[in-house]
Amino acid sequence: MTSPVPFAEGDPVAVQITQPLDRTLDYAAPAGGCVTGSFVEVPLGPRKVVGVVWGGGSGEIDRARLRPVVRALDVAPMRAEMRDFLIRAAGYTLTPMHAMLAMACRSPAFFDSRYMRRVYRRGEGSPDRLTEARKRALAALGDFDGLALTLAELSRAAGVSPSVIKGLVRLGVISEEESPRDLPYPCLDPTRSGYELSQDQALAADDLRRRVCGGEYGTTLLRGVTGSGKTEVYLEAIAECLVRKRQALVLLPEIALTAEFLKRVERRFGGMPAEWHSGLTMTERRRAWRMVGEHGAQLVVGARSALFLPFRDLGLIVVDEEHDTSYKQEDGVSYNARDMAVLRASICSAQVILASATPCLESWVNAETGKYRKLQLSNRFGEVDLPEMRAVDMRGEKLAPSHWVSPTLRDAVRARLDAGEQALLFLNRRGYAPVTVCRACGHQIECDHCDARMVQHRFPDSLVCHRCGESKPLPSSCPSCGAENRLAPVGPGVERLSEEAGELFPDARIEVLSSDLFGSARALRARMEAIAAGEADIIIGTQLVAKGHDFPLLTLVGVIDADLGVHGCDLRAAERTFQLMRQVAGRAGRRNRRGEALLQTWQPEHAVIEAILDGDEENFWRTEAAGRREAGVPPYGRFAGIVLSGTDEKVLFRIGRSLVSGDAPLREIGARVYGPASAPVARIRGRHRVRLLVKAGKSAPLQRALSRWVNRVRLPSGLHLSIDIDPQTFY
Ligand code: ADP
Ligand code: ZN
Repeated sequence: MTSPVPFAEGDPVAVQITQPLDRTLDYAAPAGGCVTGSFVEVPLGPRKVVGVVWGGGSGEIDRARLRPVVRALDVAPMRAEMRDFLIRAAGYTLTPMHAMLAMACRSPAFFDSRYMRRVYRRGEGSPDRLTEARKRALAALGDFDGLALTLAELSRAAGVSPSVIKGLVRLGVISEEESPRDLPYPCLDPTRSGYELSQDQALAADDLRRRVCGGEYGTTLLRGVTGSGKTEVYLEAIAECLVRKRQALVLLPEIALTAEFLKRVERRFGGMPAEWHSGLTMTERRRAWRMVGEHGAQLVVGARSALFLPFRDLGLIVVDEEHDTSYKQEDGVSYNARDMAVLRASICSAQVILASATPCLESWVNAETGKYRKLQLSNRFGEVDLPEMRAVDMRGEKLAPSHWVSPTLRDAVRARLDAGEQALLFLNRRGYAPVTVCRACGHQIECDHCDARMVQHRFPDSLVCHRCGESKPLPSSCPSCGAENRLAPVGPGVERLSEEAGELFPDARIEVLSSDLFGSARALRARMEAIAAGEADIIIGTQLVAKGHDFPLLTLVGVIDADLGVHGCDLRAAERTFQLMRQVAGRAGRRNRRGEALLQTWQPEHAVIEAILDGDEENFWRTEAAGRREAGVPPYGRFAGIVLSGTDEKVLFRIGRSLVSGDAPLREIGARVYGPASAPVARIRGRHRVRLLVKAGKSAPLQRALSRWVNRVRLPSGLHLSIDIDPQTFY
């Protein structure tokens, strides 16, 4: 690795900033000098902004007229390999460099002095009288279980003024102390022994350990059904990485999963790892960001954005549930964390482990062609059988209108309850009802800003747009014809399903698990653990429960609507349904209890439903791969999605058409453009959306052609063009 180039005070340096500018700016190095990679504060017009020293100045501006860098910030400089990663990620995703850099600067670490800070926690005393505000302050401290908070954090979390807290300090109810900032994370001990591994597991673990030892780049697809011990195996690889004194990163799809996972890490290595996700407080964020860049964090468990943390020496990246759609970010910078993990690892000579029971077709093909290595765990640990999977043919079931649990499923649930076991009713729809319709005129209530129907919710009573988040109270009269009390819910959401379950099983304890029903990730985690321990008989859940959390008492999964998703216009509809159904079914019957999965369907002979039931996964992938190859679509071809958005639909189409007529740069590489067409969701947040789709051969130099192509068109102001390389959804 090249060592950073030093610059003396006054030397011209090029600084990349996070503001929308398409080039670096020259400044004079600050007093004390700086190096390539230094995080700096620089003047930009009347403001001061953060940037990174990208290299020597361009020399375009006379030395004497350069504005000086305000100061170098008190954090470790960005490493050369991180800059390299950002540059290549920006090139791949066609993201402007400033936006890519911003992802690596999401740190509150920059402007804090680092030594001591005053923190607050629960003290010994009890208050003379409990006002509402005091109650909130104490409750907020309780929520953070003994964690110390700063005054600002506590008053924000509690929604009280700092004076309330200071008052409680005077009474000794809250204690105030000085504490060093940003402590390193506990030291993890990779030499502690884990479980004794089965032969299958041991082979895979040895293989991965050897890879990690090698200190080179490589990607391995680790397959095995849920419960086969993939996690146990990759913990071994992490152990090896820590022994080598390199850092490891585990990406998980849902922060709700991390509680269980963190505990496993703690059992295995004797300490908690650093966490990185949107649920962290500012203090936790700052600590994680700093410690990852210094010597204070060996292992990070996080969401996709953890890839942009300033690791010192990253030796291993695990992408767990690698097929999960939440790895693809679509807002703002669009990137797929799975692919970016591979890119980052190839730059810093790290190993990547992609773990999944049902990999995405891209990874499956890469493993088949030898681009990735593959390891397969064949059995569930401690047992052989997957749950028994059966279709419930809805054409033969008697159901009252607005009811969704078939008699067959009802009896199966009853049997499990009688045996003291848990059942899961799976429905991937949040809220009470997906549609609200007027019985007088047929009007369906839509969002005012989006081309989407509003979803009825009961907790609290409201209509919510799942596109833009807008909510409004449920009106008593129809907004279209004015008829009173004729608005009716249509179709089921998990909340409505729980009503039905309540009627069917009046004695059962029923619990709805849906991401919107919990105020915080912490609350959700706590609830999941209680349920896993037996605090509910019937779980009603969305895809949140399909992923990861282990419910040892759960032995039956009933899928309310296995057909939902099979018919998407989406390229990946079949693959997604297959993955989701297999995964949900995998929730049933771990820990030596044979599980059962019942899939309610109106079309049991549909190829995807048959593949799910029949369990021959290889056959499913082969058939799916053959179909995609035939059509020349990913992974056998490449797509890029272009979305034009703006307030005037006519202008969008005009620009779309001029893009199409200027498609020479695309034709040169054998690519074709389709469209323009109204996007399937033609309006979001009041902006119209028009789509174009570019289809290219697998090895065509797509990015270069795309930039040349779109740069030819002048966009009117207010019109936004976004490019999504390898789009996952087509809305
Ligand atoms: P996966 O990641 O494939 O879903 P896990 O690694 O979570 O599988 O293993 C499933 C369960 O079996 C976990 O509770 C785990 O602790 C346990 N387990 C896996 N391997 C072993 C082993 N060799 N000895 C004891 N328990 C194990
Ligand atoms: Zn909306």
